[in-house]
Amino acid sequence: MKFPLAMTAGLASYVYKNKARPRPEWQITNEPKGDIANPFRIFTPKPNSDRAPHPLMHKRFPIVLMLEPLHACNLTCTGCGRIREYESTIKERVPVEECLMAVDECGAPMVSICGGEPMMYPQIGKLVAGILDRDKFIYLCTNGMFIRKRLNEFKPDKRFFFNVHLDGLEKTHDMCVEREGVFQEAIEGIKAAKAAGFQIATNTTVYKETDMAEIEQLFEYLSTLNVDVHQLSPAYGYSAVNDREIFMTREDVNEKFKGIDRLMKRYPIAHSPVYMDFLQGKKELPCTAWGTPTYNTKGWKGPCYVITDAHYKTFEEFMTETQWQNYGPGGDPRCEHCMMHSGFEPSVALGINHSATDYLKTIGWILR
Ligand code: SF4
Repeated sequence: MKFPLAMTAGLASYVYKNKARPRPEWQITNEPKGDIANPFRIFTPKPNSDRAPHPLMHKRFPIVLMLEPLHACNLTCTGCGRIREYESTIKERVPVEECLMAVDECGAPMVSICGGEPMMYPQIGKLVAGILDRDKFIYLCTNGMFIRKRLNEFKPDKRFFFNVHLDGLEKTHDMCVEREGVFQEAIEGIKAAKAAGFQIATNTTVYKETDMAEIEQLFEYLSTLNVDVHQLSPAYGYSAVNDREIFMTREDVNEKFKGIDRLMKRYPIAHSPVYMDFLQGKKELPCTAWGTPTYNTKGWKGPCYVITDAHYKTFEEFMTETQWQNYGPGGDPRCEHCMMHSGFEPSVALGINHSATDYLKTIGWILR
């Protein structure tokens, strides 16, 4: 299996319970009211569409908390919006106690610690230990530069993955992160962590210029290092970075991912086959961005990981005051080309728009 059994079973049980009985206070949309006929609607159907939103769109609950304890980073990667969007608060950090309060307040079973570079957070070991004490699963997203230096602050745990950013083989990756030597240090970090018994994931952003044959070579190389699982993110030109030409339209993403089924069979890719069908344009999914809330130095960031219209003080305000019905493809123009997993994979976890074949594909993928 790609993921530890406890992780798969824990997530499945959490999703099942929340689908059956979602917390009622998160299902309310406060003023200004959304669509009167359907106040819980998040998915704005495309113009001229007569499709009603799926009933599970009425059940909002978080699945993955995107926790950003800081926005500072030692690199200035080409596709990163955080160091631009949060320039004014780049030196601020969320104290450990506040991070843990956010974990408790939201209650998501999985926490993705991102940033910024979380390995520059002084109490990163303490933060990870505190989240594991709450029986959560953790992906610690890192550029890999400090793994060797700080490895002794962590203990291997079946609920914990280092998630190392790698956008290609050495030359390509170093160009994307705008510094030579980063690929090699990340690889040394992966080797050291594997030798110490840690689980490793990698995260690759796919840009307009990305050569998918090179991504296959990268996965082949990483398989020799026993990397456990791979994530792929289609580069999306959200507001902080959308003046650049490296980002893709939906049509570009469909084209880029059209050979992905073959890679899915050969390598442990972390995304469900249904999400991959969506990336290839074979399936329509609505945005369920409330499934992946983001907490950072300014509070709960709404509506989603990529666009910022507000920061809320409490999780409940984030859930009830974000005008969900205004977002998603067909709604807000900024959402038009978004296919980010943070916006659409919660829909897969909920089984929205799923056929019987989709369920079978997902079960087969989990068990493989
Ligand atoms: S940018 Fe993407 S994730 Fe955010 S609300 Fe729009 S469609 Fe959803």
